Amino acid sequence: MTENISVLGSTGSIGTQTLRVCEFLNVKVSALTAFSNIDLLEQQVRKFKPELAVIGTEEKAKELRLRLSDTSTRVGFGLEGLCEAAAIESADTVLTAVVGMIGLKPTLAAIEAKKNIALANKETLVTGGNLVMKAAKENGVKIYPVDSEHSAIFQCLQGCPDRKVLKRLILTASGGPFFGRRYDELKDVTVEQALNHPNWSMGAKITVDSASMMNKGFEVIEAKWLFDVPVERIDVVVHRESIVHSMIEYADNSVIAQMGVPDMKIPIQYALTYPNRVECETEQLDLTKISSLTFFKPDYETFKCLKACRKAIDMGKNFPVIVNGANEAAVELFLDRKISFTDIGDLVTEAMSSVSVRDINSVDDIIETDILSREYVSQTVGKV
Ligand code: NAD
Ligand code: MG
Repeated sequence: MTENISVLGSTGSIGTQTLRVCEFLNVKVSALTAFSNIDLLEQQVRKFKPELAVIGTEEKAKELRLRLSDTSTRVGFGLEGLCEAAAIESADTVLTAVVGMIGLKPTLAAIEAKKNIALANKETLVTGGNLVMKAAKENGVKIYPVDSEHSAIFQCLQGCPDRKVLKRLILTASGGPFFGRRYDELKDVTVEQALNHPNWSMGAKITVDSASMMNKGFEVIEAKWLFDVPVERIDVVVHRESIVHSMIEYADNSVIAQMGVPDMKIPIQYALTYPNRVECETEQLDLTKISSLTFFKPDYETFKCLKACRKAIDMGKNFPVIVNGANEAAVELFLDRKISFTDIGDLVTEAMSSVSVRDINSVDDIIETDILSREYVSQTVGKV
């Protein structure tokens, strides 16, 4: 059970919901970090009184320091600040809710400082899964999933007596706003349409990733690392209602599901209270109001990002890093209205056969591939 927490990315969708859960559970806050939202970070500092607050740039840090001069909270900035927040002595748990691969170094810093991790920042496992899981094992720390699908699997596994009888993981996917559409029908969709997720309210990047199903591809990779299950035994089913958050199947074909209303406070809270369960500030599930739950096969031809992730984790080496780096760059360009929605999947797929292949043995290897993948995307788009 978490007593003191450091929240990386406290001003985002997961970060703000985490602070609500902390307030409800009376968890003390040691550190908070944000990239640019200085107003919200200031409010959070005044409310939760952390030892340390971290913001994106030195310039913003100066302003924040002035604003907080009547408090005892120290102010840091940049990646160094994030790593300091991750390793802060008073915290027993670090919840990682920054967006993108920027979370990798702070997560490793937290693990080395022997903090348990409540992990929302999936790009960290997509790019550095082997390094992170190895470091967690060596330092004897736990990684508790915050992602709703992985929390569901983690919850279902609590009743699993012997991992040898675990046959399959079944990840559910909402299908996003473009479910049922074909590739050609997605060429002209707008940023607004991509940001209009049917069931969840999340940050912009993950909402676009959900629309392209890159998010589900990432979650297959995330599940492989978290639960040590080979990708051939991780299936994806589209489940439009987002009530069944994922399932596991045993050797006898019995399937166990975790259900609940789509509210991230449930998985966030379980990551903080594990192995205990306590009341949660969320709606109760009333299945009679929902009346039907539907399940469909995903369309791997239209949603090329999902296919790219399966291929990348199967091929290993730096392929998942290429997919992630190309995707981060492409999503930014899409949000800036510089490329079309289908360009995201196309650029990611092309990057996999263009960026040089190498083994990943260190964080530097990951960063080098990440830079090359982003460059591939910007150069290709620049040429068009
Ligand atoms: P968000 O965009 O709402 O928030 C991101 C947070 O990270 C903000 O606090 C922002 O200030 C900070 N941040 C952004 N860029 C940064 C940078 N370069 N350096 C330092 N800090 C930076 O995102 P979110 O929806 O809360 O998602 C956060 C992570 O959790 C993502 O990895 C996402 O895939 C994962 N996740 C989110 C949800 C969800 O429901 N929102 C569910 C599952 C997993
Ligand atoms: Mg998820």
